[in-house]
Amino acid sequence: MSIQETGVEARLAGAFATIDLRALQQNYRALAARAAPARTACVVKADAYGLGIAKAVPALAAAGCDTFFVAWPEEGRAVREAAPDARIFVLGGLFGREAAEAYAEAKLIPVLNSRGEAAIWEGFCSTDGVARPCAIHVDTGMNRLGLTLDQARTLAEENALTGALDPVLVMSHLACGDQPDHPLNQRQLTAFTQVRRLFGGIEASLANSAGIQLGADYHFDLVRPGVALFGGLSGPGLEPVVTVQARIVQIRHVRAGEAVSYGAAAVMQRDSRVAICAAGYADGLHRALSGSGVPLREITGGGHGFAAGRRVPVLGRVTMDMTMFDITDVEGGALTVGDRIEFFGPNIGIEEAATAAGTISYELLTGLGRRHHRTYIGPSGESGTSGDQR
Ligand SMILES: *Cc1c(COP(=O)(O)O)cnc(C)c1O
Repeated sequence: MSIQETGVEARLAGAFATIDLRALQQNYRALAARAAPARTACVVKADAYGLGIAKAVPALAAAGCDTFFVAWPEEGRAVREAAPDARIFVLGGLFGREAAEAYAEAKLIPVLNSRGEAAIWEGFCSTDGVARPCAIHVDTGMNRLGLTLDQARTLAEENALTGALDPVLVMSHLACGDQPDHPLNQRQLTAFTQVRRLFGGIEASLANSAGIQLGADYHFDLVRPGVALFGGLSGPGLEPVVTVQARIVQIRHVRAGEAVSYGAAAVMQRDSRVAICAAGYADGLHRALSGSGVPLREITGGGHGFAAGRRVPVLGRVTMDMTMFDITDVEGGALTVGDRIEFFGPNIGIEEAATAAGTISYELLTGLGRRHHRTYIGPSGESGTSGDQR
């Protein structure tokens, strides 16, 4: 297998992220099998949910993906570099005429979210008379981006006459896909079924990761998973992709009655051993994971790490650069300076870590920060193409 190392040098790094591109490919294949006969695109916004577009996109393309979605045009350019032949949709950011030029240069397909954006693309394409492809986003109940149903109807009627736009995809987005019993799912499905009739003969797309799990009714022609690719959603055939660990830089003995970390909020009930780890909230270990002393929300009891075969609780407040763990119950000598504590990965599920932090796996992935040593475990089907071998 190929291994590529990026980011901060391992010998100088406090935090370590391991990204398993083979698991990423496996997740793509599992989702694609689930969605078939619908096609499966990949949503790689926010630098592929923090994993890195330059690494994730070629792996996904090698696994069979030919269509990508990003949030903003700059991300679309990065995908274009990583996948020269791919179809790339940009969900937002047709900010004006100058932006439209950049879309055309990189062959990015804008998702038109309003009449204003439709007018920008129409105006741009009319200068040289080339109706370049676009997608139409219709809002069916989320009230974020998208044309209203009425606006979509008008646009469809006008365009049937003028042919000024060349829509290749009509899409909408689910607000509650992760709550299968929420009544809004069925309402959005019904509305989208109407919408798609307005735009006959082109692809239709409704489902994100959670939407795929809602069943075939929601799949239409193209599904758009993001977080499930990157291990942020558990389900059949889905594997963890990212492991985050921090190096222990000191182990200290703290007497009963003494306190640990800012605010002196964690007071030891017994003589304790405390591992000081070289990663904090600047590295994506949310301060809300603190074992105590963060009155931001209902106390969950704090997060856990995993080391020497057992779970170890976060102790006191997470600080910017460091986090303390209570390792009193770890057998003496089983952990030493230089060992690593897992923050999430195979032993502490990312969804568990997210819940403990009062957030969602998406935010843990996209918030990883810039101070990690990164190890990419190479994709299958390609050997020797991704750097160092060992
Ligand atoms: C982010 C996003 C997706 C992917 O959502 P996941 O929940 O990560 O699968 C799909 N479609 C749109 C419009 C999005 O913004």
